[in-house]
Amino acid sequence: MTPRIAVLPGDVINKIAAGEVVERPASVVKELVENAIDAGATRVSVDVELAGRRSIRVTDDGQGIASEEAALAFQRHATSKIRTEADLSTIQSMGFRGEALPSIAAVSKVRLVTVAAGSSMGTEVRLEGGALLAQRETAAAPGTTVEVTDLFYNTPARKKFLKSPATEFGHVCQAVQRQALAFPKIHFRLTHNGHVVADYPAVPTLRDRVQQVYGAQLVDTCVDLQEEAGRLRLEGLCARPLETAHTKTPQDLFVNCRWVKNAAIVHALYEGYGTYLARGHQPRFVLSLWVDPRHVDVNVHPTKREVRFSDQEQVHEWVRSRIQASVKPASVASRTTVVSACSPPQRRDQPVATDGSRDVPGYANPAPDVLAGRQPRPAGVAELGQAYLPTVEQEEVRPLGQVANRYLVAQVGDELQIVDQHTAHERVLFERLQRQFEAGQITSQRALLPQVVELSAAEAVSVRAHLEDLGRLGFEVEEFGQGSFVVRAMPALFGQGDQRALLRALVEDWDAWPSTPSMQERYNTVLASVACHSAVRAGRALEVPEMRRLLEDWREAGLPSTCPHGRRIAMRLTIEELDRIFGRLGWT
Ligand code: ADP
Ligand code: MG
Repeated sequence: MTPRIAVLPGDVINKIAAGEVVERPASVVKELVENAIDAGATRVSVDVELAGRRSIRVTDDGQGIASEEAALAFQRHATSKIRTEADLSTIQSMGFRGEALPSIAAVSKVRLVTVAAGSSMGTEVRLEGGALLAQRETAAAPGTTVEVTDLFYNTPARKKFLKSPATEFGHVCQAVQRQALAFPKIHFRLTHNGHVVADYPAVPTLRDRVQQVYGAQLVDTCVDLQEEAGRLRLEGLCARPLETAHTKTPQDLFVNCRWVKNAAIVHALYEGYGTYLARGHQPRFVLSLWVDPRHVDVNVHPTKREVRFSDQEQVHEWVRSRIQASVKPASVASRTTVVSACSPPQRRDQPVATDGSRDVPGYANPAPDVLAGRQPRPAGVAELGQAYLPTVEQEEVRPLGQVANRYLVAQVGDELQIVDQHTAHERVLFERLQRQFEAGQITSQRALLPQVVELSAAEAVSVRAHLEDLGRLGFEVEEFGQGSFVVRAMPALFGQGDQRALLRALVEDWDAWPSTPSMQERYNTVLASVACHSAVRAGRALEVPEMRRLLEDWREAGLPSTCPHGRRIAMRLTIEELDRIFGRLGWT
């Protein structure tokens, strides 16, 4: 018999929908905290028992819900945040689908107590499995408390999927942390079984909030970002290149105050680091990006964890260039970047306000610098090499000697520097090659006696396929016979290096091109190979004038801290540090 088609009863629909929104206790926390934020709360408390299995209570001091609407809030698609389809394209609130409360209520027991702004009495509503049990008047402080108990009591299958209390509570903590990072101006507090686990009083900046959440150590190892161009704004912190490691935590990205996963932005970030990131290292970052809400679609994922940009390439390129400018050493960056003009701050316009306009603290607020009408800090003027900024060009460089034919010891200004001769030279050459390449032509030098280079069959195939790319790099290479190539010209910087070793390194780089979509990144790896093979090798004894030349070139490049492969260039000891080490404090 053909199966009969029937529309599912409402409670079944709600349970199915709940499956998308309410995965675990942390999802309940996320949704309830978002509602508190949308209600304009300045304080949000999250109290959890047994990792959220027994109860989750979120209390806010926001605008509350009018008595006559308290029960309505639990109906599917009931929302105060949008009214028409057009509103979808200008969403600035966290919620807009009217799904969270009915979904949570469908799979738990809920008690809501709410007092609307301006009223002296409030309302209490109780539901079980989505069904309204009771509603009565009650007295309470202004704001809203939602208490969710016995989560998944009526969906045993879902309950079985819950992980250990430690894991579930870890997710709850993460959910609170993310919201706290998105809204530094809101006070967040989290307790577990009656113990305070996190308490983040309101602070003026994201940097302060990062310090509360992740500690001073992270903040101290990061560069500050404060960038704005038109309706794009980027604020936050990312690790200085030398402070990157193999770990990815934290990597928090917020788009219009939502924590999101976005491969394009993360890719732009990695590209921005480019050659400043050591192989296998990961940047740590907490970054907030603001985009015109009309140009970002937040309605692509059930929990809104993903977003789509209407002009992804533009956003990608802007983020890449801002990150690059910030992680590059100061003087190099200031030569190559243009500081965007400060545009008037964007105010948050509530698309549909039930009670007149309201401004959620910390929400889409422009950076304090912008508000005060000050110019944002020039791109790249960050801690890296900051001490040198005003005087880097004049700082006296005194080579003191060479250790083991690989490290130069020098006095730069007042500092003692131990410099890896190879990585320092490599970076200097790389920057030059990059400038020449960007200007259109790498200076090339014809060989007096062209050399013949023998390559394996596979290498020869690759070189043959990239003859044009070699030309752009300043080479003139011609096939001579089976696997033999005559090198008639080389980049002038190359000097007397090993041509065969360089060609083989280039073949390796080209092999990796298919997995590197960005042209710039592709050429960077190739330029880095040319620089590496052109640079003075470890083990070569240098005369004092050579040392001086190299150190001066490095200083002129802005004392960069890593080679294009991300390896460290120098170790610095300031005079203060030396004095501290030798106990010479306060007297000479
Ligand atoms: P959405 O947030 O998508 O609108 P929800 O189901 O989360 O949907 O909430 C439904 C409605 O209930 C909201 O639009 C809002 O008007 C109201 N509401 C929920 N939580 C709160 C709260 N903490 N304070 C004030 N109003 C709230
Ligand atoms: Mg909501």
